[in-house]
Amino acid sequence: MNRYLVFILLFAALHFATAASDQQPRFQVLAFYSTSVSLDHVQFAEDALKFFGALAATDNFRFDATTHWEDMNEEHLKAYQVVIWLNYFPTNTEQRRAFQRYIEAGGTWLGFHVAGYNDKDTNWPWFVDFLGGGVFHMNNWPPLPARLVVDDRTHPVTRNLPDAYVSPANEWYGWKPSPRLNKNVRVLVTLDPSNYPLGLKNVLASGDLPVVWTNTKYKMIYMNIGHGDKIFTSAIQNRLIGDATNWLGTISTQAEVPAAAGVEISANAVVVNARTNKVYAVSPRSSAITVVDGGDHSTAMVKVGSEPKTIAVNPLTNRIYVGNSGDGTVTVIEGATDTVVATVKVGDFPYVVAVNPVTNKVYVSKIFSNSLTVIDGATNGTTPLEVGVQADAIAVNPVTNKIYLTSYQAENVTVIDGATDNVTRVTAGTHLWGMAVNPVTDKVYLANIGRSNITVINAATNAITAVDTGNMPCAVAVDPGANKVYAVNYASDSVTVIDGANNSVIATVNVGVRPQAIAIDTVTHTVYVANTHSNNVTVIDGTSYSVTAMVNAGNGPYAIAVDTAANRAFVTNIAEDSLTVIDGTTTRRGTSAPIPAKE
Ligand code: ZN
Repeated sequence: MNRYLVFILLFAALHFATAASDQQPRFQVLAFYSTSVSLDHVQFAEDALKFFGALAATDNFRFDATTHWEDMNEEHLKAYQVVIWLNYFPTNTEQRRAFQRYIEAGGTWLGFHVAGYNDKDTNWPWFVDFLGGGVFHMNNWPPLPARLVVDDRTHPVTRNLPDAYVSPANEWYGWKPSPRLNKNVRVLVTLDPSNYPLGLKNVLASGDLPVVWTNTKYKMIYMNIGHGDKIFTSAIQNRLIGDATNWLGTISTQAEVPAAAGVEISANAVVVNARTNKVYAVSPRSSAITVVDGGDHSTAMVKVGSEPKTIAVNPLTNRIYVGNSGDGTVTVIEGATDTVVATVKVGDFPYVVAVNPVTNKVYVSKIFSNSLTVIDGATNGTTPLEVGVQADAIAVNPVTNKIYLTSYQAENVTVIDGATDNVTRVTAGTHLWGMAVNPVTDKVYLANIGRSNITVINAATNAITAVDTGNMPCAVAVDPGANKVYAVNYASDSVTVIDGANNSVIATVNVGVRPQAIAIDTVTHTVYVANTHSNNVTVIDGTSYSVTAMVNAGNGPYAIAVDTAANRAFVTNIAEDSLTVIDGTTTRRGTSAPIPAKE
């Protein structure tokens, strides 16, 4: 967000009433804007005033606009069915509370571009939820036109649009997480990936970038358009804005429920304790963990904190650690009894939890934080560890006591010496995402989602080798006994098999649609790949590299863990909070069906 501050005298409130007419306006719209923001955002607001003024006359609604954000109060908002933020947002508590009350009382909102901007300093969690969970992540620079794809033409806001159109020059925001991952969000328009790379200085290189969406929990439309003086030069886009305004002005309820979609990548939402053969799967919506007993396969639930997202197990101490994103805690579960023995405060938004079972240390990364919280497994005491990066992934080599951190934003991998807490960095790639360690060979494998290859680090020498894969390798797994490495190619619907001895590609195996998680039964050398969009799991024989089964899973299979002793794979389905159990014995005969472990 470029902030060239310009200081212009504040305008008095502007009123664009409908032309004198006997007709009552169908609804009333109030637009807030600021003239003391960056010049491009002011230009957009000025163009928008003209556009909405004209639209109000033709579509018969009342349009008022003001730079007085103190008008964001209960009394004043009462008269309006639609509130628009053109280029800014409320920054004080009173105005924020008034807006929240307005929305919760059934008011509607149309937000443009920077109106939805929020980052770690915004301190308005309600708004982040309202927007659909996305936090500003990155943008292209300078503003450029882009081809937009209309995802869903069944919605009243998009039904008059073509399948795709070229939107005039704009600054495009990427969000993290993508609002599409929110089950309540219905994405209407998305930046076409054919635009990538987009930008001359700040370049958007890849990823899911929704542009227009509605959070169906509320009556709202957000459009990430609104930068510069070209926005209203597209008749198609003007239609979109007009239809959104009319829809918000006249809707009573949001009845439509969005189709599930998910591209979130995580390998941490289900774990197996190999010593007890118990499986622990995160159920974010019920703030609980599903426990599958290793003996009789019965299931039980353990209540944890709010929005559990990440989980790790220490098999040596039989303790399970659950990171609760909603309340900044880690729940410690005693595996012998499956009861909660401690709730440890770790700071806002715990993101990834990893355990070194040998040292009994638990490493917790957090969104918006460049430090880890390290939990001493013996005492549950915590110490902060400055690492200089927000870790999207953590891998531990318990043999060497090295901890590896990657960030989507960083081109290097951060290495912690677990004995001294000394932090070093190794340059590794572009948009690192998945990571796996082979403790036997002391090699680290990093998936470069932005570069379509895997970076191999020989941890003893820090020597780097790149191995080409399919497009957007997002997850990587190692079979240490066979010394094979598997990279999951999200955008190519395939898995690349790499020989760990010489880094050569042995095979490329086609799997289902949008694969994103992988787990290996290291005893049978069976490989399980979760295909998010085709709702199934590809089972690969790790000796012949042939597909032995495609097993139906639930909606949005997302993370996998394998119980090698029981020859079973457990798959969490993110779009429905369920667990699919795959019997490895029968899938090898091709006759298996998943066993639902919970409703
Ligand atoms: Zn902008």
